[in-house]
Amino acid sequence: MAIRHDWTKEEILEIYNKPFMELLYEAATIHREHHDPNTVQVSTLLSIKTGGCPEDCGYCPQAARYHTDLEGNDLMSVNQVKAQALRAKESGSSRVCMGAAWRNVKDGEEFDNVLEMVRTINKLDMEVCCTLGMLTENQAQRLAEAGLYAYNHNLDSSEEYYKEVISTRGFEDRLKTIDNVRKTNVTVCSGGIIGMGETVEDRAGMLVALATLSPQPESVPINALVPVEGTPLAEQEQVPIWDMIRMVATTRIVMPETQVRLSAGRTQMSREGQAMCFFAGANSIFAGDKLLTTPNPDVNEDMQMFKALGLNPQKPFTKKSQPESVDAENSKFQNLGEKPKWSRPGHTIERNLAAQGKSKKA
Ligand code: SF4
Repeated sequence: MAIRHDWTKEEILEIYNKPFMELLYEAATIHREHHDPNTVQVSTLLSIKTGGCPEDCGYCPQAARYHTDLEGNDLMSVNQVKAQALRAKESGSSRVCMGAAWRNVKDGEEFDNVLEMVRTINKLDMEVCCTLGMLTENQAQRLAEAGLYAYNHNLDSSEEYYKEVISTRGFEDRLKTIDNVRKTNVTVCSGGIIGMGETVEDRAGMLVALATLSPQPESVPINALVPVEGTPLAEQEQVPIWDMIRMVATTRIVMPETQVRLSAGRTQMSREGQAMCFFAGANSIFAGDKLLTTPNPDVNEDMQMFKALGLNPQKPFTKKSQPESVDAENSKFQNLGEKPKWSRPGHTIERNLAAQGKSKKA
């Protein structure tokens, strides 16, 4: 079946709202046509710089403006990252995703260190992904040259609902960064979060935005909100497992070749619920007891679940060959001292302001 890039919200809603068994059957059938149903990619997410972020994402405990008891840390060293990557490899991960709580990448010493981390992990024969905020085309090229395999930049929600969650940058800024990554040979990882108070139409709207990208993202993480005290979304109710399965299945149907990643919120799901997500087309998870700052199942528990379900971890570079890492001294790209341009939409979000106000009183 050819990949479609012209999905409409109405079509996606129709899929999402199908009788559950039909939805599951259709998604599982498409999944089998494009992927080995018994293989699941295991990634390890490392928070290489935690907390102190200037943005106001309503779900995020790393935003400096909310009072969340989060212990921040400065950028990790290359050696620390290497040690953690080796540990992740030993426990079955084929990919390391490094996350830094930055609004955007800034050329300079810290970015040079991140480039060195990318080279180091790629040379361990693991796929390397980064999530560092907005970046320019030159910065994307420098990451590609260092051997980056994937760049994560989530759309989070529909364009309409995005304005209810984040006020410090616009939806189009997200698309611009994804576009900059697409100018290189780095693959794109972009998805979102459900359970932030959005409607089903918003969920479909997010999938329209992702599925109509050409090419579609190679990886789409579907997160269930993990409400954290002190953040504006702290009081949100847990997402029903049925919504997660419907979202995974719909993502699989509209993006057949993508790796659909079951991301945050797995600790709130039973093994049976996760098994249904795998059946519906999820074929990637994050391993490790923490997902940046929120809890995640222990890797041994995951391996027990894999055993019970007869699942095998995906080998690195199964979908695309390993990039070469060019050493810093041979780089073709210069440090241009750039910062990406972005918009400040200028609207206010009452619940974000309220959470910020409480934090000041605290
Ligand atoms: S999600 Fe990222 S950009 Fe938003 S506040 Fe958290 S660390 Fe900052």
